[in-house]
Amino acid sequence: MVLRGPVQTQHFIFCESFPKINVHVMTYKTKITHWPAFCPPQPTTKLFIDGKFVESKTTEWIDIHNPATNEVVARVPKATPSEMEAAVASCKKAFWNWSETSVLSRQQIFLRYQQLIKDNLKEISKLITFEQGKTLADAEGDVFRGLQVVEHACSVTSLILGETMPSITKDMDTYTYRLPLGVCAGIAPFNFPAMIPLWMFPMAMVCGNTFLMKPSERVPGALMFLAKLFQDAGAPDGTLNIIHGQHEAVNFICDHPDIRAISFVGSNQAGEYIYERGSRNGKRVQANMGAKNHGVVMPDANKENTLNQLVGAAFGAAGQRCMALSTAILVGEAQKWLPELVERAKNLRVNAGDQPGADLGPLISPQAKERVCHLIETGVKEGASLLLDGRNIKVKGYENGNFVGPTILANVKPNMTCYKEEIFGPVLVVLEADTLDDAIKMVNNNPYGNGTAIFTTNGATARKYSHLVDVGQVGVNVPIPVPLPMFSFTGSRASFRGDTNFYGKQGVQFYTQLKTIISQWKEEDATVTKPAVVMPTMGN
Ligand code: NAD
Repeated sequence: MVLRGPVQTQHFIFCESFPKINVHVMTYKTKITHWPAFCPPQPTTKLFIDGKFVESKTTEWIDIHNPATNEVVARVPKATPSEMEAAVASCKKAFWNWSETSVLSRQQIFLRYQQLIKDNLKEISKLITFEQGKTLADAEGDVFRGLQVVEHACSVTSLILGETMPSITKDMDTYTYRLPLGVCAGIAPFNFPAMIPLWMFPMAMVCGNTFLMKPSERVPGALMFLAKLFQDAGAPDGTLNIIHGQHEAVNFICDHPDIRAISFVGSNQAGEYIYERGSRNGKRVQANMGAKNHGVVMPDANKENTLNQLVGAAFGAAGQRCMALSTAILVGEAQKWLPELVERAKNLRVNAGDQPGADLGPLISPQAKERVCHLIETGVKEGASLLLDGRNIKVKGYENGNFVGPTILANVKPNMTCYKEEIFGPVLVVLEADTLDDAIKMVNNNPYGNGTAIFTTNGATARKYSHLVDVGQVGVNVPIPVPLPMFSFTGSRASFRGDTNFYGKQGVQFYTQLKTIISQWKEEDATVTKPAVVMPTMGN
């Protein structure tokens, strides 16, 4: 029998009837025309409550589409108020035991977890490609960058150390503990279905918090898989709960009095709202948001390397990365490189993410495609030159997919809509500057401060740029400078709201609170003991 269903890894998550059937059903290319009779019309994403994958009792469902075909491949519930309440109650109930579990035992769970993620990396990646559309190689990067945060969480024994100061006065010492907050929550975007949830719950939980996750309603599968692996690694029931939904679920998280902190990654519209509403309710909130990242190309740069880096960073993942280099500033003579940049972009292969040789896959939805095409059109109308137009691309065998090919708009000016708005698609807007100072001014005038890169062979130029540019993450000949997790992800200005960044030492600070103990043990009170050599008598 040929099963026309999603990849094997989804079976245990989406459809209770599947798990006993041990088949690899690689159906990215297969049209999903019908489901086996014993399975509901579309597999449903479960909630994860109190250690169980449970079917929602909701009447409201959201379809999940394969972006390469636009076929509905599964449904995700809008969790009901009582289901969301049950998830928080489960986190709350589990908190005491989990926070009192020794740090070494928590560390052991995460050590097992990182191995399980490694063992299942390819399967999780297939699931990401299936729901999100990115290429398999890129999906593996998605899981891998999340895995690095889990590995980092295993260093908790060093990360969570407090401070001590002995003898601040006679017989008096001061020391601090880093303690968990309680129940924390995470709200994730669609573009990194594995990495971003893994930025959140592992760091929070290794510090002793319990966690409520709400993945993007468009790509929940990878997180469900990761939750199963976490359970297999030994995470006790209730320590991680997962709800699904949209605005109601977000409002529930922002308002619930038992939730102490919220980690958010996504658009500015949602992030500003969640930051305001969560903060107003007394919660800690960290919000990583949108971006407009500039790549400044100096005429002394290594041309071959720079053009390849620019093209990869602008169009990789179909531009759906918050650290994509969506804007190039060509300085002086580097403006002559534009035709070659266009040629290289033309050579990229657009295809379904699971197809061999695909460089970029589809956008997440028809609405996203429409929006990207609209922003390209505004560029044309406002006077930019459309040197490469990917709007009408046809991908053989995937005619219904949300594909946009690499697109380049040149002669762009800072007042144009295509420059001011985050496009989040495979579109590179190109501006020109006479000098490095002009380029720096342009970057600093843009409200976003997520990432930037300079391409140069001159150390002094690189130093000046890194020093003067007001952006949180700067690459020097590195197009996508996402820090490894021993550092933190340090987007700034309009790209971030909050005080404390994601992962690294800052991540631990976000998910912990300090308790300071000042203790006095007077020397003269020390118990004086000596060996008891006489027969004990009553009263001794
Ligand atoms: P999004 O804001 O639409 O969705 C993110 C989450 O917020 C989802 O879980 C969604 O259900 C919820 N949400 C959406 N709209 C909401 C609203 N109006 N009110 C309350 N909740 C809402 O973002 P997306 O489209 O999934 O992701 C793309 C965006 O994320 C881009 O702007 C990108 O730059 C940004 N992003 C930023 C980073 C970073 O680290 N700075 C990383 C990845 C993505």
